[in-house]
Amino acid sequence: MARVYNFSAGPSMLPESVLNKAAAEMLDYEGTGESVMEMSHRSKEYDAIIKGAEALLRELMEIPDNYKVLFLQGGASTQFAAIPMNFMNGSGKADYIVSGQWSNKACKEAAKYGDIKVVATSKEQNFSCVPDVDPAELRPDADYVYICLNETVHGNIMRKLPETGNVPLIADISSCFLSEPLDVSKFGMVYGGAQKNVAPAGLTICIIREDLLGKARDYTPSMLDYALMAENDSLYNTPPCYNIYICKLVLEWIKNLGGLEAMAKRNYKKAEILYNFLDNSKMFKGTVVAKDRSIMNVPFVTDSDELNAEFVKACTENGFINIKGHRSVGGMRASIYNAMPIEGVEKLVEFMKEFEEAHTN
Ligand SMILES: *Cc1c(COP(=O)(O)O)cnc(C)c1O
Repeated sequence: MARVYNFSAGPSMLPESVLNKAAAEMLDYEGTGESVMEMSHRSKEYDAIIKGAEALLRELMEIPDNYKVLFLQGGASTQFAAIPMNFMNGSGKADYIVSGQWSNKACKEAAKYGDIKVVATSKEQNFSCVPDVDPAELRPDADYVYICLNETVHGNIMRKLPETGNVPLIADISSCFLSEPLDVSKFGMVYGGAQKNVAPAGLTICIIREDLLGKARDYTPSMLDYALMAENDSLYNTPPCYNIYICKLVLEWIKNLGGLEAMAKRNYKKAEILYNFLDNSKMFKGTVVAKDRSIMNVPFVTDSDELNAEFVKACTENGFINIKGHRSVGGMRASIYNAMPIEGVEKLVEFMKEFEEAHTN
């Protein structure tokens, strides 16, 4: 069996030990004689799975007790609408910081529901950096301030959070979920689609401060009403059962590796290997300013489209797949999420060196 190194931005690699465990338990989960895929979401076996996943997530992320954890469907994109419906319930205003494609999409969606202000954007810089936020631009009566912590397409991460005072800060953490410790107490809500770092596509995890719940607009569909989902412990309807089970296995894997501190150490090491190479290469260069570089998504280019295409092709032929940049930005992007082993990054860099040597005279 030949496994490739998959640098996809999502869905992305899962830890091999998780896949093996899932395979071993496929036909008979812990003596039940059934697969988790076939199990009633109201059974006591399943109850232990979903409660176990939540407990592990709370432990690893040190989620304060006054936050609800919801296991939902619809992907991160569905939350782009659910967030204004649930939280734009006071002044009807919300402030958005646009630092890349995903915050831009969230902002456009929210504009359907209320008075949206873009308080800062790095669009002019092609999102090669995170924008500076002038505190005077933030509206004190906004219902929330919105950011995307790690922009998956453009490869930047917001290291300094905006000072929002009493206005809740909401963050999309899809592509940096569980990659390093995060102080959840600084946010009104953090959320993300699971397919980058947590589980297969189809599961969305929302972590919401309790006092913000229960004020959704009247027209909010039940399935998008966070308070209703919280009251029902994410079992208002059938949740994405199997994905939650895989999520639990991934959380166990992280715990066994030493938790989020250990994860962060591993991730920073991987990113350093790749950025060091990019900073010293004459052929390849990173596209994001050093201080705002993501440790999860690393976009880079050569100075020619032909060479980019040739490199992407050579990668695919050599077992480094999905290295092509997002269709909106071109070039290359290596997504090096939690499950990418250090060895995968070392081998990629080795391959890039050889490619560069072979193409320089
Ligand atoms: C992938 C991604 C999304 C979109 O997620 P879906 O689950 O496909 O809706 C949103 N935000 C960020 C930061 C992402 O990386």
